[in-house]
Amino acid sequence: MFDLVLRARRVITPEGEVARSVGVRDGRIAAVEPFDAVPDAARVVDLGEDVALLPGLVDTHVHVNEPGRTEWEGFETATRAAAAGGITTIVDMPLNSVPPTIDVAALEVKRKAAQGKVYVDVGFWGGAVPGNAGHRRALHDAGVFGFKCFMLHSGVDEFDYLRPHDLADALHQLSGFGAVMIVHAEDAGTIDHAPGAHGRRYADFLASRPRGAENLAVARVTEFARWTGARVHILHLSSSDTLPMIASARRDGVAITVETCPHYLTFSAEEIPDGATQFKCCPPIREADNRERLWRGLAEGVIDCVVSDHSPCTAELKRGDTGDFGLAWGGIAGLQVGLPAVWTQARRRGHALTDVARWMATRPAELFGLRRKGKIALGYDADLCVLAPEEELTVDAGTLHHRNPVSAYHGSTLTGVVRGAWLRGQPIGAEPRGVLITRGEA
Ligand code: ZN
Repeated sequence: MFDLVLRARRVITPEGEVARSVGVRDGRIAAVEPFDAVPDAARVVDLGEDVALLPGLVDTHVHVNEPGRTEWEGFETATRAAAAGGITTIVDMPLNSVPPTIDVAALEVKRKAAQGKVYVDVGFWGGAVPGNAGHRRALHDAGVFGFKCFMLHSGVDEFDYLRPHDLADALHQLSGFGAVMIVHAEDAGTIDHAPGAHGRRYADFLASRPRGAENLAVARVTEFARWTGARVHILHLSSSDTLPMIASARRDGVAITVETCPHYLTFSAEEIPDGATQFKCCPPIREADNRERLWRGLAEGVIDCVVSDHSPCTAELKRGDTGDFGLAWGGIAGLQVGLPAVWTQARRRGHALTDVARWMATRPAELFGLRRKGKIALGYDADLCVLAPEEELTVDAGTLHHRNPVSAYHGSTLTGVVRGAWLRGQPIGAEPRGVLITRGEA
């Protein structure tokens, strides 16, 4: 006897897209049966002909900003938006909240801020900054999923970046207890020598963050990983120039993985209007040919996964009034629409929902040790996303659950509408039933 059976003609499993009846017991997937073999259950839900059942997405790159900058987002709004976007697990970044998550006391402050407010499961990253080496092991033991560092100014003064020598030391340290370092890879010196980002022209902003800054930083991280044996993960990859280098290092056995984001796979520099600061993020959205190379990197498996890098702020800080790229906060708000954005582009390039589920659920879960997340398979949490993959929507930033109504996707018509999400076998609805998760236990 099961608590719940969900039936769909299109169930996205590790074996492909198949018609199945999915049985749930005690919050876990306990049966994946042929569509017509409906197990006995307290509740049977027939999902209908026009939807697909995906594993709930796992978004390991979200800036919730609470406490400290809760006017930018917050646990309640972020996790509501996640659920509405088919995401059932997020991992929160250690910066932009105050205090930043650089010691156990700060992690406790953040956990307290999140407690009782989350609609999806939430884990936390720790931060690696100059001066916190003595706190990293304790943070690791307290259950953070790994450590984030920057290689240039992070955008907020309270989260300093690691200079090359400190980065090598930190990687050596983390390799000692098997923690992953996730890296914002842009080189400080290259950015310092690039022209400044002033004014409304997108081309000027792009020139201020050249590909070379990413290329050099990724090369440095790769070699440090090779020397130290540390596991590294490149965040929000934008420069496709780096892909051959990453592939080559991997062939040598360097433990390096990489993510990109829906906005790099959707937009192109050529199409961004001057003054449209909702598109400002770092590293920046580059040219259309670069975007196509990122798609090739995904198709070939060099890029492991796609996560949001949801990094919102208030409308005021986006400087929509002046459209000045130099002054606007850098970060794209897109948590709720990442799945339709990626699916819209993926289907045009001949990819299937099974690919999207692998990039946005299975791989991120595997990379960071979320052992019961990211797959519709026996023993996994019954975290599920119901998607109408042929239905269209036009994004209105004002109707998203994000706290602030500014998004690069505003006005975009996307294919794929999330009809609902389930967390451990319960429909995500009025009550915040998410839990705070720790590394190794989720
Ligand atoms: Zn980020």
